[in-house]
Amino acid sequence: MTHIDTMLAHLGRTAAGREQAVNPPLVRASTTLFETVSDLRDARRAVAYEVPRYGLYGTTTTFELQTAMAELCSTESCIAIGSGLAAIAAVLGAHARPGATILIQDGVYEPTRHFADEVLRPVCDVTYFRTVDELEAAIDDRTSLVFIEVPTSMTMRLIDIRAVATITARAGVPLACDSTWGTPLFLDAHGLGVDISIHAATKYIGGHSDIMLGLVTGRYDALASTRDWCLRHGQTAAPDVCWLGLRGLRTLAVRMERHQANALKVAHWLVRQRQVERVHYPALPSDPEHELWRAQFSGAPGLLSIRLRNRDERACEHFIESLELFDLGASWGGFESLVLPALDDVSLVRLHIGLEQPDDLIADLDRALRHV
Ligand SMILES: *Cc1c(COP(=O)(O)O)cnc(C)c1O
Repeated sequence: MTHIDTMLAHLGRTAAGREQAVNPPLVRASTTLFETVSDLRDARRAVAYEVPRYGLYGTTTTFELQTAMAELCSTESCIAIGSGLAAIAAVLGAHARPGATILIQDGVYEPTRHFADEVLRPVCDVTYFRTVDELEAAIDDRTSLVFIEVPTSMTMRLIDIRAVATITARAGVPLACDSTWGTPLFLDAHGLGVDISIHAATKYIGGHSDIMLGLVTGRYDALASTRDWCLRHGQTAAPDVCWLGLRGLRTLAVRMERHQANALKVAHWLVRQRQVERVHYPALPSDPEHELWRAQFSGAPGLLSIRLRNRDERACEHFIESLELFDLGASWGGFESLVLPALDDVSLVRLHIGLEQPDDLIADLDRALRHV
């Protein structure tokens, strides 16, 4: 099984086979039972979050999702926890220690920055970098982690992951990447040199706007400290949610293909509108990041942002509120279209292009743009 479409249909069905069912059973547990003391001892010695030990560390349902995800990401292991932000906090927290510095790319998801500034700063140094050159200048023997997000939230800036990975590998520093936008389908993060890849499975992997789930993937040695941090902090993902995550994976490829086709069609239309100053979507040939996107991604999802020419707050709000098919709300990655303005600047508007008919979405945008 090498093609990802085939893998999506067949991975994560080990326990299902035992039940003679297509899908694995949903196993909920707090207490895990053992036949013998020796079995109990073995479970305690095994890698946490990989075998039944106590409900907090997962059930067979959790393990089905984790092993499927690890395989999809061409790596050894995966840890499922309660949300994308919990996964980010775990990775950052696991690398914070007095005297160390964590280097974080400027422009990361806002709550990531809040965690770094409010929770990490009292423990270790946090330095933000904008470019590969700034990273190269900042990295030293005190650096315990480099954290990037590709592309950055709202402004969709891409950093050269291969170049970053070359620097971190040379310095012997682990590289973590928030890979949510690309999904395992469009971004082979580990193939590009990322040690720890983070996915807010709340978005496309869940795919239906009804779960919160974070997945961290990587080699066993790369995830050791994060796994330990999760264990110490009682981090977990509910089996019900893992089951839904696994269900979401089954259709990930077909949904992503459609999100991409719809987003491209809408983006091409948006660049021609006089009310729109800029469309931030690296899959557009006119986007300044297009070549870098082509070199590192095999596709683009439905998330893009636009800069309206009219900066008048009331007019921008009117545009957003008059959209009928784009609901106003945070998050993205579900089947539906969404709109969200940047809170400090409502003329920067993020659009999630859902699975609706793209001509209907364009007609809706066309109607609403008349207000700006
Ligand atoms: C949504 C999001 C997160 C956080 O995921 P939650 O599951 O909502 O906590 C992290 N990173 C990126 C890029 C996101 O879009």
